[in-house]
Amino acid sequence: ALKAGIVGLPNVGKSTLFNAITQAGAESANYPFCTIDPNVGVVEVPDERLYKLTELVNPKKVVPTAFEFVDIAGLVKGASKGEGLGNKFLANIREVDAIVHVVRCFQDENITHVSGTIDPISDIETINLELILADIESVERKIDRSRKNMKGGNKQYAAEVECLEKVKAVLYEDKPARSLELTDDEKLLIRDLHLLTMKPVLFATNVGEDEVGQEDNEYVVKVKELAEQEGAEVVVISAKVESEIAELEGEDKEMFLEELGITESGLDRLIKAAYKLLGLETYFTAGEQEVRAWTIRQGTKAPQAAGVIHTDFERGFIRAEVVAYDDLIACGSMGAAREKGLLGLEGKDYVVKDGDIMHFRFNV
Ligand code: GDP
Repeated sequence: ALKAGIVGLPNVGKSTLFNAITQAGAESANYPFCTIDPNVGVVEVPDERLYKLTELVNPKKVVPTAFEFVDIAGLVKGASKGEGLGNKFLANIREVDAIVHVVRCFQDENITHVSGTIDPISDIETINLELILADIESVERKIDRSRKNMKGGNKQYAAEVECLEKVKAVLYEDKPARSLELTDDEKLLIRDLHLLTMKPVLFATNVGEDEVGQEDNEYVVKVKELAEQEGAEVVVISAKVESEIAELEGEDKEMFLEELGITESGLDRLIKAAYKLLGLETYFTAGEQEVRAWTIRQGTKAPQAAGVIHTDFERGFIRAEVVAYDDLIACGSMGAAREKGLLGLEGKDYVVKDGDIMHFRFNV
């Protein structure tokens, strides 16, 4: 399963946010493939379409799709030099597919800031620098190795070195590797390095509990400016408020959100943004027993999408009946969609689209 890692300096609100995530808690019985680990929280992806489908089909059970957040605490200045538990944390970041970078944008005299003042831009630069330094080390080591292998005149290694030199130059300018435009071939060449600064990032600006639903404070404004330059997303959130919301359910939750003047919790916005950041899409299965959302990467073909449900579905794949979400909603039922010719019969090369409702036919 794909994972998003939560990083940030100490005392910015990571644990508070992570606790809200685990408290909001997904029904773990539905997600047997998920990791059981105190540092991993499973979140269900809120999706309006799932509830519309439920109204249409009236199933016994509804299951949203889910993914994992990993709490990567303890990143401090000097981590790339092995300070604190530096290397261990960098190794944890290497394993995630996207990064949620929590930055402190709340004022509270009682909570110490590691560097003395609240300055989200400098905080972001501190973390970025550690990641960049770690990447420089990986890139330089790889260049040395590839140079040695190149001696025999191997073209593959020559291309690799050329690409790595470009990456290195960008890193030496204190810029993340993701800011470099690489071709798909080049990306493939350096993929196995799992560079930390190649991973997509979103900033979660942690604001004070009295600032929810208000205009952005000066710190958030600055982070948004920086994010725009980097092409990154920003989610404004109050970790403290989210930990309170996470304790509520149903009507109580709705009433609390209403009091705050918001329609959606910050956590739900964060989950949706992280899902997008991971490059994930959703398709649905809709039967009388169960309406369920499933996660695929963009560009996944029908047999592999079926494999998300069960490997047998992929192995024995014959065809898939497919109807687009909007078509199904417009028609009101599967039967009506079929009559109008909107139910397609697709083969193994069909690329599944976000929102498709799929029914797989397969051999056992
Ligand atoms: P971490 O070190 O990044 O995991 O930070 P924590 O989640 O442990 O938070 C550090 C301290 O800041 C804790 O005492 C939290 O209660 C507090 N804190 C977190 N978010 C907020 C907030 O939005 N407002 C205020 N006033 N305090 C917060």
